[in-house]
Amino acid sequence: MRTRVRAALVLVALTATGCVRFTAPDSPPPLTTANTPTPPGMVTQRPGAPTSPESDTDNCNRLASLRPIPLPPRGQMPPRTPMAEIAASGRLIVGIDTGSNPFSFRDPLSGDLRGFDVDIAREISRAIFDDPNRIEFRVMRSADRVDALRNREVDLVVKTMSITCERRRHVDFSSPYYVAAQRILAVNSSKISQAEDLAGKRVCVATGATSALRLRQIVPTATLVETSTWADCLVLLQQSGVDAVSTDDAILAGLAAQDPWLQLVGPSLGEEYYGIGIAKGRDGLVRFVNAVLVDLMASGRWRAIADEWLSMLGSTAALPRPTYRD
Ligand code: GLU
Repeated sequence: MRTRVRAALVLVALTATGCVRFTAPDSPPPLTTANTPTPPGMVTQRPGAPTSPESDTDNCNRLASLRPIPLPPRGQMPPRTPMAEIAASGRLIVGIDTGSNPFSFRDPLSGDLRGFDVDIAREISRAIFDDPNRIEFRVMRSADRVDALRNREVDLVVKTMSITCERRRHVDFSSPYYVAAQRILAVNSSKISQAEDLAGKRVCVATGATSALRLRQIVPTATLVETSTWADCLVLLQQSGVDAVSTDDAILAGLAAQDPWLQLVGPSLGEEYYGIGIAKGRDGLVRFVNAVLVDLMASGRWRAIADEWLSMLGSTAALPRPTYRD
């Protein structure tokens, strides 16, 4: 026993003085799906299992929002309105993502949040405060958006959020401010070139995104791998933990820009109309945001923001003329 302790002490001493080298194996152990760490919160939904969100209908005239009010002068919000409340609080609280390049991402040099959604949010801040920077951003996952609004943790969600009838049951939306198309991201050398090729394959989607539901409808035999963020889907695809990712081209183009071995394939699987999410009961804020959007379109500012951020998407679908419920 004593010999063994002495031998261990000698080994520790030699190691500390650098006399003993532990040689690393010539090559790392092969990277297999089995020993690759999976992202926290990952859930695998076999064919037939429900997805999140579980259902949607299209029977609510979902794109119709509330008629805009005449825009008050910047920095002078009418009293007893949600905008006056926000102005009094000194900041607009906006739910956003940091991993949805080019819609919202953290600039690695400055640390600032930047992108199309960020600039749209800044225009709303400008309209309220006469200052585009009076925003407190709250970073959130796709699955957090509706609850963050319902719990009044944020004033607005500006995060590639599609207007759906299911979501409309819980929150309100502005008029659409962007139209995306759901597509597929796959490795260049793979045989996946359209939705039918996903039959029996593993496809990554973020939990709480609309993408899962449409995929289930189009390719019922695919296994859906749900992760917290789209960035997690990118890593899983790079590790061969999934065969493809499917969501809005707006997000996939940003993932593809980070990896030359990946490409968007196949035609559009369906359109996604992005709206700014607002808690129910704040009709004045919905009307105000719609007025800001009308102004951004009319002034050419929306086009300038789109030109700055969305060139990687090629031609963007034309926005529908806004329709209003009342
Ligand atoms: N537009 C889709 C949605 O709102 C996907 C985008 C996302 O998850 O941010 O669910």
